[in-house]
Amino acid sequence: MYSTGINKVERISDDLYMITETESIHSYLLIGEDKALLIDAGWGYEDIHPLIEDITDREVMLVLTHGDPDHGLGAVHFKDFYIHPLDYGKLLNNDNYEERKGMLKHRFEKLPELVGFIDEEAYCHSRFSKETNVHFLFDHQIIDLGNKHVECILTPGHSYGHLMFLEKETGRLFSGDQLVDHHNIWHFLSHDEQAPFQTTLNSLKSLKERETEITKIYPAHAKTPIEKKCLDELIECFEYELEANYRNDLPFHCYRGDGYRHFYRSVDLIYSDERLEEYLGHPISRD
Ligand SMILES: [Zn+2]
Ligand SMILES: [Zn+2]
Repeated sequence: MYSTGINKVERISDDLYMITETESIHSYLLIGEDKALLIDAGWGYEDIHPLIEDITDREVMLVLTHGDPDHGLGAVHFKDFYIHPLDYGKLLNNDNYEERKGMLKHRFEKLPELVGFIDEEAYCHSRFSKETNVHFLFDHQIIDLGNKHVECILTPGHSYGHLMFLEKETGRLFSGDQLVDHHNIWHFLSHDEQAPFQTTLNSLKSLKERETEITKIYPAHAKTPIEKKCLDELIECFEYELEANYRNDLPFHCYRGDGYRHFYRSVDLIYSDERLEEYLGHPISRD
């Protein structure tokens, strides 16, 4: 097992490894008796097959939690990948030169030591849609890895086709971007990219009803694993806490748009007034 300047590999247990790209995005490799499941593939700055082959010789099936570029563009290095159909358009939208170039510039500013490791032009000109076959996953579908069975759980919110993956035998849940600890969750993009708050809340409450099936939660960013109370706190935030305290929030700006940033316990939520107004059912004022 080894790491590179771009991807750090960590062993969580005999059958579970984490590959963290540029200190930011976690992909997980879950190894079954018949095949291995790779959950997310990062931006794909390099082909991670050598890292995977150093861990397992099983056939690898790539599944994506959602269509954001930081989890999906790495599919370019794979022959096949699986995603929920509601997020495929989102991923295709991100499969362009500007998206790759913009993020690489940002990464190089943050981690200048990466410059020599990434072939910038080759990366920016790569297109998963030319190289890779897409397949679709649906809510409740079971992926059979041999001795392990992984359920796809549709959790719309951060994106409409967001999937979490629950390994039935051990209760390990891979929660993507929808459930994290002290890491920002984007909810300020346009309606075609991100679901209404009520939809998010419904997803989280459905997950809460299945809490006894869950033992550990592995998110796609920041601290991992995280505690179950993060789910309770995110539900509380959407259910009543945001409405009570949004007036204290400060503006947030980034290359994808503007919003406000809300902190509550483990929750770090970036949202728009438009989204909040739609949820509350009335115009809001910040005076
Ligand atoms: Zn995301
Ligand atoms: Zn992400």
